[in-house]
Amino acid sequence: MEYTKEREEVAYFMRRLYERRLTTCYGGNISLLVDGDIILITPSGLDKGRIEAEQIGIISLSGENLTPSLKPSIETEMHIRVYRSRPDVRAVVHAHPVVCSSFAASEKEINTSLIAESRAVLGKPARAPYAFMGSPELAAIVARAVAGANTVLLTNHGVLSIGQTLLQAFDRIEVLEAAATITLITHLLGGKRELTGAQLSELEPQEGRSLEINEELVQLITQAVLNNLKA
Ligand SMILES: [Zn+2]
Repeated sequence: MEYTKEREEVAYFMRRLYERRLTTCYGGNISLLVDGDIILITPSGLDKGRIEAEQIGIISLSGENLTPSLKPSIETEMHIRVYRSRPDVRAVVHAHPVVCSSFAASEKEINTSLIAESRAVLGKPARAPYAFMGSPELAAIVARAVAGANTVLLTNHGVLSIGQTLLQAFDRIEVLEAAATITLITHLLGGKRELTGAQLSELEPQEGRSLEINEELVQLITQAVLNNLKA
């Protein structure tokens, strides 16, 4: 079997995501970029709590399914667009954790100024507007959102995180769910104490904060220049 070790890792993190109750048995998907232009991605329509390595699909970054017997995730295009938007990223985790998803279905934002770990790991999560699950519109919206953030709240849907490793992307989902829960509980308790401005800037994560040159941005600038030339 090709990419045995890496597919085992993807399957392991998918089972862990389900076991940690961060997604439902059919919800969520995980991918890993290997060899620069291949993604290993969880399948569609199978029980995520029992996923094994041989069920992890192999897809080229141009969208070709190299394991035709496996049905890739319906969000495969979203994963591909994220890797194109963020060339520094090697792993993508998408899930539907209950507390984060409640914020995604609310006007309220997750507060990452309450606990040091939240700010250090997450910075400030981005929010992507609603689009139908599995649609090219959702893929484009999320690709834009990750250009400036490592975690994204998908309005009325769930969350997505990126990382240089599967563990880092998984950690960001877990910390985001914790931050959402802490935001809710401190609101219920009342009298919340936020970190000060100086304490927050000390914690600001460095990694992934710089604006990468990305395909979407280049296309936008090229189109603007062309429009200007035509005018
Ligand atoms: Zn989803």
